[in-house]
Amino acid sequence: MDCLFCKIIAGEIPSSKVYEDEYIYAFKDINPEAPCHVLVIPKKHIASMDEITKENSIYVAKIFEKIPEIAKLGGANNGYRVISNCGADAGQTVFHLHYHVIGGTELPIHVFPEK
Ligand code: 5GP
Ligand code: ZN
Repeated sequence: MDCLFCKIIAGEIPSSKVYEDEYIYAFKDINPEAPCHVLVIPKKHIASMDEITKENSIYVAKIFEKIPEIAKLGGANNGYRVISNCGADAGQTVFHLHYHVIGGTELPIHVFPEK
């Protein structure tokens, strides 16, 4: 399958690993928007949040069980934000489910800063 993040999981494309277990892989975003910007992905190909089902949601549960530890490993020691862009309007660019874990600095509260 021609999926960038499946290739990263397989080690075919190098990445800066933060955490890995049977279910999940976490690595530094190549274009970080904050001092801590880690992507957490399931080791099973799920295209987006729209594709989460009863059968594969164990991967999502495992991701969220580990996010507090991954945030600390990534350098967010004073809070963090979790974002998942789903579909065109949200600007999803890689169609393998991923959660951005962002922190390590004070973050702007609003999606639209002028609000
Ligand atoms: P999206 O826009 O789909 O929510 O997020 C995709 C993220 O993947 C972006 O933040 C982008 O910087 C990151 N990204 C894209 N290609 C690579 C890559 O080859 N390696 C890493 N580490 N991150 C990538
Ligand atoms: Zn994939």
